[in-house]
Order: sequence, then C-alpha cells, then structure tokens
Amino acid sequence: MRQTLIAGNWKMYKTPSEARRWFHDLIAAKPEGQAEAALMVAYPLLPGAREVLEGHGVSWGAQDVSAHLEGAYTGEVSVKMLADLACRYTVVGHSERRSYHGESDALVAEKIRRLLEYDITPILCVGEPLEVREAGNHVSYTLKQLEGSLAGIAPQSADRLVVAYEPVWAIGTGKTATPADAQAMHKEIRTWLAGRFDLGFANQVRILYGGSVKPENAAALFGQPDIDGGLVGGASLKLDDYVALLNTV
Ligand code: PGA
Repeated sequence: MRQTLIAGNWKMYKTPSEARRWFHDLIAAKPEGQAEAALMVAYPLLPGAREVLEGHGVSWGAQDVSAHLEGAYTGEVSVKMLADLACRYTVVGHSERRSYHGESDALVAEKIRRLLEYDITPILCVGEPLEVREAGNHVSYTLKQLEGSLAGIAPQSADRLVVAYEPVWAIGTGKTATPADAQAMHKEIRTWLAGRFDLGFANQVRILYGGSVKPENAAALFGQPDIDGGLVGGASLKLDDYVALLNTV
C-alpha cells in the first residue's frame, strides 16, 4: 500500500517567523487523516521547520538543490546543507525552475543523483505546457521529461523517489486536470517506471498530482488508483486548507 503524501510547496512565501508560527499552529490543529504531511519551504525556513516539526510526524524539505557538492558557487545551497537540516524530501525540476531558470533534464538528473547520495527523497516534477496538451502530445512529452530527468539513475528503493505530475497549465491557474485525465497520465507514468525499473518498484513509487489542488477537488483526485497524493502550492499556505487536505484521506 502506498501512503498518500500531501506535500506543500510554499514557493517564495512566508518569512521564517511567520512560518514558525504556522508550524506551531499546524501541530496544534492535530490533523487526523492517514496521509503523510510534508512541507517544501524556502531555505531560510528550514531551521525553524526542523525545530518545530521534528517528532510531530510532519516532514520538511527544500524546493531545489545545487548539483554541486560544495565550492565556489555563490548563491547555491548544497545537498550536504539540506541533509544537515534533516530534510526528508526535496523538490527538483519544478516547472518554475525549468522555465525561469532554464533547468534541463540533465541538470535535474544531476540534482537527483546528489539527493540520493545523501538519502534525501527527490520529488521529481514533470508535466506539459498548455500548447503540448492542446496538440495531444502530453504523454510523450511528459515521459520524455521523466526519462531525461532519471537518466543514469537507479534509486535503490521506491521510497527514494517520488514523482509529481504537474501540468503547467494547471499550476496556480485555478484550472485542475480532471481526475480522469490526471489518472490517465499517472498510469502512463507508472507503466513507464515499470519498464525502466521493474514492476515492484513502479507499484510502490508514489506519484503525486499537482496543479490547483484544493480541499474541494482533492477527494476526487486522491481517489484515483494511481494518484498517491498531491504537490500543493496555493492551498498549502492556508492552514485550514492544508489541514482539510490532510483530513481528506
Ligand atoms: P498550485 O501549485 O497548487 O498553486 O497550483 C502547485 C505547484 O506549483 O507545485
């Protein structure tokens, strides 16, 4: 059985002090669902996340990582630093990184390799832009991104990889893929993983859906057989919504 994962992607929101208060409020809210909770936050928020959330069943992680281990790379943050802050997950290849920072599949693969070396589970984001969906090429586009982002990589176990399918046209737009459309893509991704790794691995890997997930549409999405939770932006910033998402499962 794959445990549902509700990973919040806070993007560039909240200051360290705002975040600290929010983390305390989350613990006080005592979410009751069966889902695993994780929050992907900006780097300066990570020490506070660790301090407040450790021992409370909520994981934390970063939204990106350097492909370099250490050195003269001004502005970069290394995997060693994330490991030292006990990050369990880290997002890689988010469409905002791919489009605003020109990240290629090859660079994403380098980052995944680094994270795996330090036992941090990558949340690998893939997904097509609107014009690709409209042309009907979304499956081949997304699987090609997956292939390139995992080139040369063999995670030892399925809990060392999470895939997030995030159609770019659904991110932050209020437009969600229908549960059936999302399920169809998730099934393609799982089938591809079975071919690339093996069936046992593919059946255990969690594949999250991302793109305007909110409490109103979560149950229908998470109820699909190959949707194992969500990577949630906007709704994860609001305590009530995030708790409601956790309580959906
Ligand atoms: P959204 O963002 O939930 O605000 O659409 C999702 C994401 O970018 O991960």
